[in-house]
Amino acid sequence: MEEEDFLTPTDVKRFVYCPKIIYISRVLHLEERTTDYMEFGREKHDKSIIAPLIASLKASRVLEDVEMESQRLKMRGKIDYIIVTKFNEYVPAEIKWAEASQSVKRDHALQMATYSLLIEENFNTVVKRGAVYYLRSKNICVLSISEDLKKEAKSIIKKISEIIDNELEPEVKVIKSRCMNCGFKNYCLTF
Ligand code: SF4
Repeated sequence: MEEEDFLTPTDVKRFVYCPKIIYISRVLHLEERTTDYMEFGREKHDKSIIAPLIASLKASRVLEDVEMESQRLKMRGKIDYIIVTKFNEYVPAEIKWAEASQSVKRDHALQMATYSLLIEENFNTVVKRGAVYYLRSKNICVLSISEDLKKEAKSIIKKISEIIDNELEPEVKVIKSRCMNCGFKNYCLTF
């Protein structure tokens, strides 16, 4: 399987934000312009940042920058952290460097559900919770990863594959404020 045939949890996040981003990034191969915050997020980060999360989940181990793959889902991804609790529960954790939020945003919830599918296949376990740390608002949000959320992630993965395989530009209706914050708006004729 070619490298570019694999999808990523970021594709799922982008699809939930706006399906047209998949067309722009995966069919037209145009990439988001990076901001200083995004560059900062790519640098190696200090584990002390997630110390509160490690404490609240009573971690017994923390796995960092974990690369995973699923041939079945055609999916590959690297998660910031997997926190393994003393009850051997695997909790995916991501840091959102550039964002502020009081609760887990929907696109991030589906991204976490996709990481959960990868963890379940790679570690032979069942994921029930995930954590997102919104660094700008210093908010750690723990979300429940239900079976329904995982099913939804699988259905989104199928829809993404359809857009790529058929080179289909999806029709979208997106609220203006979302377009204003979209990193792909320079390429988008809808905007
Ligand atoms: S600018 Fe708006 S319509 Fe275009 S890709 Fe971004 S969110 Fe979607």
